[in-house]
Amino acid sequence: MQSRRRFFFSGAAALAALAAASRWRPLAAAPAENAAPGESFDITRTDAQWRESLTPAQYAVLRHEGTERPYSSPLNDEHRAGVFACAGCRLDLFASRTKFDSHTGWPSFWAPLDHAVATREDRSFGVSRTEVHCRRCGGHLGHVFDDGPRPTGLRYCMNGVAMTFTPAAT
Ligand SMILES: [Zn+2]
Repeated sequence: MQSRRRFFFSGAAALAALAAASRWRPLAAAPAENAAPGESFDITRTDAQWRESLTPAQYAVLRHEGTERPYSSPLNDEHRAGVFACAGCRLDLFASRTKFDSHTGWPSFWAPLDHAVATREDRSFGVSRTEVHCRRCGGHLGHVFDDGPRPTGLRYCMNGVAMTFTPAAT
C-alpha cells in the first residue's frame, strides 16, 4: 500500500487553508479502502484501469480519498442549472437546485439525487465523520455534515474534481 502515500497533493498553503477551515483536517490520502466489508459496487475496475481512465487529481480523490485544495475547483462557481455527475462512472449525483454556498471552498449540496450516493463511517485522523461515495462505482466524493441549510440540514461537502457538470438544456 506504499503507493497510496504518493498521492499527497496539498502543499503548505493548502494545509494552512485546511487548518483554517476548522471542520476540516488535512487528509490528502486517507488509508481507507474503497469498498468496506459487505459493500459491493455495480462498476468495478482494477486500480490500473482507474488510473488509466482518470486524471491524476481525479484518481487521488476518487480512488484514494484525497481532498482537493479548497477553492481549487471551478465547480465552486458553477451556478447554472444542471446536474453534477460522478467523474468516475458518470452517474448523476446532485442537481444544481440543491447546491448552496457553504463558504468552505468545496462545492456543497443539501441533498443528493435518489440512489446516487452511499455513506460509511470514516474514523481517519482521529475524527469521526461520514464519508460519501458514489453508489455505483464506490468513488470517494467527500463527506456529509449535519450543519447544512434547510430543508435537510445536511451539508454534502464534495470534491469538485470528483464530479463533472452538465448544464441543463435550454
Ligand atoms: Zn461513480
